[in-house]
Amino acid sequence: MQLKLDNNVNQFANEIEHLSGCSISDCYQCGKCSAGCPVGEFVEESPTRLMRLIQLNQRQAVLNSKTPYLCATCTTCSERCPMKIDVAKVMETIRILACKEGLRPAVKAVSNFSGAFLDSVKSNGRLFEFGMTVTFNLKNGTPFKNATIAPAMLLKGKLSFLPQSIKNKERLKNIFANSSYFEDREEKKEH
Ligand code: SF4
Ligand code: SF4
Repeated sequence: MQLKLDNNVNQFANEIEHLSGCSISDCYQCGKCSAGCPVGEFVEESPTRLMRLIQLNQRQAVLNSKTPYLCATCTTCSERCPMKIDVAKVMETIRILACKEGLRPAVKAVSNFSGAFLDSVKSNGRLFEFGMTVTFNLKNGTPFKNATIAPAMLLKGKLSFLPQSIKNKERLKNIFANSSYFEDREEKKEH
């Protein structure tokens, strides 16, 4: 990968620091986060490398990286970092920032899963697995994926054909309406 450096080299790091509350500039590339990362060996940019790309103002490379989408949010990296950088939070911030900027997700299936999961919770207040799986498969263009195991699961009562809703959906609506990650952070900083 060819890197282009410019005068505003701290611009992206400052932006991520501001949004996530994590001090990107404290990273000294020790590699401890990547050493414990369960997906590190499957991605081109390890957590350590991604941190360095942020420090080097490589906005497009970071926002288009697959790593934040494959991140399992296990928080091993955050626990291990000697500088107490919440690397898992940085991954989350990158995903949300990419989404807010309307970028095509680097791993579409992950984004499809999150969308189907959240839509299901938004509608019912709890997860409707059967409906979510159908929506996820349709979004992925694989309508019959795992279709053969569904009948047995339905018969054994492991899956339900119909969603179950919570009682007070109005409160649920409010939770979603007030759950803007970045705006929440802005408000917290002001108080
Ligand atoms: S939170 Fe994500 S980046 Fe950190 S160790 Fe777990 S999978 Fe890797
Ligand atoms: S563990 Fe912390 S200091 Fe070490 S490379 Fe990862 S983010 Fe940087």
